[in-house]
Amino acid sequence: MSDERRHPLFRVDLAAVAANTRLLRARAARCAFMAVVKADAFGHGALPVASTVLRHGADRLGTATVAEALDLRRAGLDVPILSWLNAPHSDFTPAVANRIDLAVPGVEHLRSVAAAALAAGRPARIHLHADVGMARDGAAPDAWPELCGRAAALEAAGTVRVVGLMGHLGCADHPGDPHNVRGRAALAAATLTARRAGLRPRHRHLAATAALLNDPGSHADLVRPGAGLYGIDPTGRAGLRFAATLSAPVVSVRDVPAGTPVGYGHTFTTERATRLALLPLGYADGLPRTASARARVLIRGRRRPVAGTLSMDQLVVDVGDAPVTAGEVATVFGPGDRGEPTPADWARWAGTLPHEILTALGAARRVHRHHLPHPAPAPARATTPAETRA
Ligand SMILES: *Cc1c(COP(=O)(O)O)cnc(C)c1O
Repeated sequence: MSDERRHPLFRVDLAAVAANTRLLRARAARCAFMAVVKADAFGHGALPVASTVLRHGADRLGTATVAEALDLRRAGLDVPILSWLNAPHSDFTPAVANRIDLAVPGVEHLRSVAAAALAAGRPARIHLHADVGMARDGAAPDAWPELCGRAAALEAAGTVRVVGLMGHLGCADHPGDPHNVRGRAALAAATLTARRAGLRPRHRHLAATAALLNDPGSHADLVRPGAGLYGIDPTGRAGLRFAATLSAPVVSVRDVPAGTPVGYGHTFTTERATRLALLPLGYADGLPRTASARARVLIRGRRRPVAGTLSMDQLVVDVGDAPVTAGEVATVFGPGDRGEPTPADWARWAGTLPHEILTALGAARRVHRHHLPHPAPAPARATTPAETRA
């Protein structure tokens, strides 16, 4: 009996990750390519995804936290890895000792990273992070000159090496938005200030998936795609493919007459005699409860509506007169080839992004995760360990 008949299954098609990587790589052929594998590769498994992307065009990795970066380094991945989101008083010593690049958004971070470099006995590789218009992470323009000056002094002392200069765009999924032009100009201005301070960062970078696809002028020296690797397509026409398929077995079925209320609050009542199928998946597994009234799942080749409000652990599907039986498998989402909903459909039904659907389901502890292998690699750019199942 295959796994999918026994429990909810989040299947990751690494061939799709590989194809997405190659497609994105081709759209930014002259740049360094940092594959973003934060949040356990958006729920897809950081290590198998990292091993795949490094064989199909990525030459480095990006994570939010140092812990995520160290997991990859300790698994044997020997490429540059950048971590960009850490508290200023973190102990960065293990990161520096393991050659993890660190984004530095302010002088407090810089102080901690310099202390770690002294403790580790080697210079820290840093990317100065400028806020180019999102008011989120990165140094504000008025703090930037001082940050560059201090970093230059530490570089002269051999404590740090400023290898990069980064920003992030807030509206790159809207190609015509004037903030994109301003963000590019802000990075150019930040670069000029850094150069005046004596810094010569090798990598300037701004573009995540949307900017990579929409705005070649934003590519600078390095691109930083995450979402696109997993098939999330902010342009809707890039030809990316979702890598994840979520399925669940039908636990039980029941035939009910017209007028039967279903689920908590009786938000749904059957209009005709019908068959109801129960799936062991709910909002504790990351399915958005707010999608209940619109959600569909694929059973026996057709999209069928969720009946009533999905609960913490389970949801009911109205399968009509289809002779569905317990033990059959429903596809909750997938790439869409067989008519199943996609993560983008679930996101629309819930009023959110496919990112949130995928990270939630991929992290769900009760959902088993399985990786399908990626195809024969292009000539390897990096040493990677054998593919691992997470
Ligand atoms: C998440 C993230 C990325 C990747 O963004 P996508 O839109 O998923 O491609 C790149 N850079 C930073 C700083 C991020 O936080």
